[in-house]
Amino acid sequence: MGRIFVPTDETFPRTADAVVIGGGIVGVATAFWLSRAGLDTVLVEMRDGLSTLTTAASAECFRAQFTEPAMVALAKPSIKIFENFAEVVGIPDYDISLQQRGYLFMTDDPDMVDQLKAAVEKHHSLGVTDSEFLTGDEVRARFPYVSPKVIAATFRQRDGWLACHETTYGFAKGSDANFLLRTKATDVLVDGQGVCGVETSRGTISARVVVNAAGPFAAMVGKMAGVEVPIEPVRRQKVIIGLHERIPQDAPMTIDLVNDAYWRPEVRGALLGWVDPDEPIGEPAENLPTDYFFPGIVLEKVARLSPFWEEIADGLKDADVHISAGQYCYTSDDQPLIGPVPEVSGFYMNCGYWAGVMLSPMAGKLVADLITGAMDPRNNPLRPTRYAEGIVVEGDSFLRGRHLEATTARQLQVFVEEH
Ligand SMILES: Cc1cc2nc3c(=O)[nH]c(=O)nc-3n(C[C@H](O)[C@H](O)[C@H](O)COP(=O)(O)OP(=O)(O)OC[C@H]3O[C@@H](n4cnc5c(N)ncnc54)[C@H](O)[C@@H]3O)c2cc1C
Repeated sequence: MGRIFVPTDETFPRTADAVVIGGGIVGVATAFWLSRAGLDTVLVEMRDGLSTLTTAASAECFRAQFTEPAMVALAKPSIKIFENFAEVVGIPDYDISLQQRGYLFMTDDPDMVDQLKAAVEKHHSLGVTDSEFLTGDEVRARFPYVSPKVIAATFRQRDGWLACHETTYGFAKGSDANFLLRTKATDVLVDGQGVCGVETSRGTISARVVVNAAGPFAAMVGKMAGVEVPIEPVRRQKVIIGLHERIPQDAPMTIDLVNDAYWRPEVRGALLGWVDPDEPIGEPAENLPTDYFFPGIVLEKVARLSPFWEEIADGLKDADVHISAGQYCYTSDDQPLIGPVPEVSGFYMNCGYWAGVMLSPMAGKLVADLITGAMDPRNNPLRPTRYAEGIVVEGDSFLRGRHLEATTARQLQVFVEEH
């Protein structure tokens, strides 16, 4: 069973086979698979607990509706791991509050209808055969609260959401790794052979494998070893609305593709967000400010295609509304950086996520397989060298918030034809 503790001089491990830097869901899933592969694994987390930074800020959703082959290759088996979580981590009856109520991407823009149809075709061609294209009437037959304006949607029932905290701790407890809290990596040590350890606020751990899973701080950790990690942190805010009888509790994750606002039920209330395309690139941060007016903006946006929100918004008080923020980490093709870097032998990346919760189980496994040699690095399309190698496969997955506005139905068509 994994040990999660604040180390003392006596309990601080001086050596390991592998050190993972970062105790969000991505780092913890990586430590889980590394220890399952038989490596003596130590994870260092600078904060008081696991899953307290970006992972805690997330909307906790997962989906297989992607159009990039590499994203589907991570997302689909990750959902299978979520579905069988107790068995995978070996803790009977372990509950991650899995809710497979679906993901519904809707539009009222006639110019987007072909784009949605193409997206579903692309899902199917990539093995996600259970996503559906729905007409407006078909959407309202299933979800009567949706506006008459909606003319098309994509939907997949097995998409949904879960409890990130429990999932992260399940991976930790189900592993044989050591999780050191309040332990900050201050340097990545390198010798003639490559990486040789991690200096921390509590001492040095010698190791020939180090994984950078530091979330928004991954570029800073990369710099410690002289490696440039090209990620851009962008603040994203989330709103929780407390108990309210008008919020349909059987609803899916419901997204307005025209304005990138979304909502889903959350313990008799709801969780809402908006992927603001004008939010600037920021610096990595532990304490992010939130905007007082954000909840009002989001409520107006989700009410466009789910009109019952207007009525709810009218009666809301400040005390019913909770707002928080974290950071998406974008890469230039909006897909994560996974695998070794050529500059420093033994130094692996597992970072650059805007959807890291849903990809974490399989991404952690991929890193472990690359480290143990179970996977040929040439079969890893997300390797950090892909830009230099010119093997990037761009996609058009919905709700990324960055390149979406540049994506037209025509561009998608070209993409589908080429691949
Ligand atoms: C509003 C919002 C909604 C989102 N919704 C979703 C969603 O529905 N589904 C989804 O899949 N994703 C979602 N995301 C994205 C998702 O939250 C992240 O991609 C994911 O949590 C990244 O996990 P991580 O482990 O890489 O990063 P983090 O959770 O940030 O973990 C990194 C850890 O590294 C630690 N660290 C950093 N530097 C050091 C150091 N030097 N030494 C020791 N420790 C260090 C940090 O303290 C932190 O705990 C959302 C994000 C936001 C902000």
